[in-house]
Amino acid sequence: MSGYKLLFSQLKLSTFRGTRWTSRFHEGFGGCGKAFLSSNCPKVCIVGSGPAGFYTAQHIIKARQDVEVDIYERLPVPFGLVRFGVAPDHPEVKNVMNTFTQTAKHSRCGFYGNVNVGSDVSVSELQQAYHAVVLSYGAEGNKSVGVPGEDLAGVLSAKDLVGWYNGLPNCRELSPDLTCETAVILGQGNVALDVARILLSPIDILKKTDITRPALEALAESRVRRVLIVGRRGPMQVACTIKELREMVNLPGSRPEMVAADFEGVTEALKDLPRARKRLTELMLKTALEIPSEKVQERRKNASRIWGFRFFRSPVEVLGNPNHRVAGIRLAVNRLEGSGEGSQAVVTGEVEDVNCGLIISSIGYKSLPIDPSVPFDSRKAIVPNSMGRVQQAAGLYCSGWLKTGPTGVIATTMNNSFDTAKSLLEDMDSGTLDVSAPKTGSQSIRTLLDKRGVKLVTFSDWEKIDKLETRRGEACGKPREKLLTVEEMLNVART
Ligand code: FAD
Repeated sequence: MSGYKLLFSQLKLSTFRGTRWTSRFHEGFGGCGKAFLSSNCPKVCIVGSGPAGFYTAQHIIKARQDVEVDIYERLPVPFGLVRFGVAPDHPEVKNVMNTFTQTAKHSRCGFYGNVNVGSDVSVSELQQAYHAVVLSYGAEGNKSVGVPGEDLAGVLSAKDLVGWYNGLPNCRELSPDLTCETAVILGQGNVALDVARILLSPIDILKKTDITRPALEALAESRVRRVLIVGRRGPMQVACTIKELREMVNLPGSRPEMVAADFEGVTEALKDLPRARKRLTELMLKTALEIPSEKVQERRKNASRIWGFRFFRSPVEVLGNPNHRVAGIRLAVNRLEGSGEGSQAVVTGEVEDVNCGLIISSIGYKSLPIDPSVPFDSRKAIVPNSMGRVQQAAGLYCSGWLKTGPTGVIATTMNNSFDTAKSLLEDMDSGTLDVSAPKTGSQSIRTLLDKRGVKLVTFSDWEKIDKLETRRGEACGKPREKLLTVEEMLNVART
């Protein structure tokens, strides 16, 4: 047995087994939430504090009593898309932050915010300081639509719009022009439906959420009354889930507007659909074709806002006005070749122009390379890996959207992150991952960052931000009023 293994089999029997340090101990260790186990315990570093980062850390910490995990995060605040992506009117989804907080406060977990890996510190510097590095930095890029006119004022990405209403610091200046009547969303996934719902929700609903104050003010003045959600294929291929569709159907003050012809043959195809797809399609059919109950009819009669899917349409060109602003969009009319999930949209040669003043592309996020030393598959926009082990890069792992591409909900991300953690632990156990030589971990990285003038934000610093945001929120009946700039966050962290 190697020296370190002997040490840790002893440690497993000693006081460290499953222990938790009190908050006084945390403070005693500079508020990073971590008490040092031993200078030569295995040290794992995770880049990114979204669901992938936290679930990877959670699994490693739970499975092994002898491993220390440090999470480095670019922003001063943790939780990635749980804070900056999940819709403000879905507070129940954000409850995962409580689980992540437990992990962050574990005695063998450290959190270091305000560290941009790839520029403040390189991945190879982290690899020198840790036995293993897990890249979990998500998918912060945006797929472009790739049509002429895409750069006109009034064309936005869903990523930026979501970031704006959720308080992502670099989206603060977006100030979308909401003076038009019709907005077109390209893409029919859950993010597209989130955006449609936020654009059309009554302000009385939004003001009770953690949506940012500037977004709330802008939406209160919004003149957008009609939102069309455009997709290349048909009703049986939409990428949203039934929960999001149901929310649209029941949205107060709004009524659906579908094109009945889009549903030709759908009723007949229902019986062969898998269960979840069948339920979703049934709801869509009901919304598009059935005469609603009197109560619903009454509600819809009074609705001042409209939403609807536009199927079998692909963007061809964004049409501009003389002021270089969006005036409309030209859509190619498609037909489907094949059936089911694998069917392909093929253009018919027919086009259709839709007048609108706002176009939001919601065709997907994509990961970006952050460090030239890390292998990156530009075509798939992921780090090439097998079971989370980065190919041809010993000691380097990946999890979350960076590993799989930007699909799947938090639960999917949890499972793929647990899988990466398992791969890493297997490698540790088998000796493929060499943990015999002691590593310096956060100690040397903190010194390095200090020399480079990087101001670290620890988890207890984040808790100060959290407290302030919650207090501000309470004052106006919201769960929190978010700080909107990195500067403000750092100021509060330093108090
Ligand atoms: P992220 O959550 O993006 O986390 C990545 C983290 O890495 C971020 O904190 C980022 O700041 C950090 N980072 C980036 N670059 C660096 C760097 N260079 N150095 C250090 N840190 C870095 N799922 C649901 O289950 N329910 C929902 O309601 C839901 N709503 C969603 C709404 C939107 C708009 C989007 C886009 C997704 C939604 N999802 C939802 C999916 C869910 O958010 C993802 O499955 C999950 O966040 C992916 O986790 P991740 O950790 O891979 O990425």
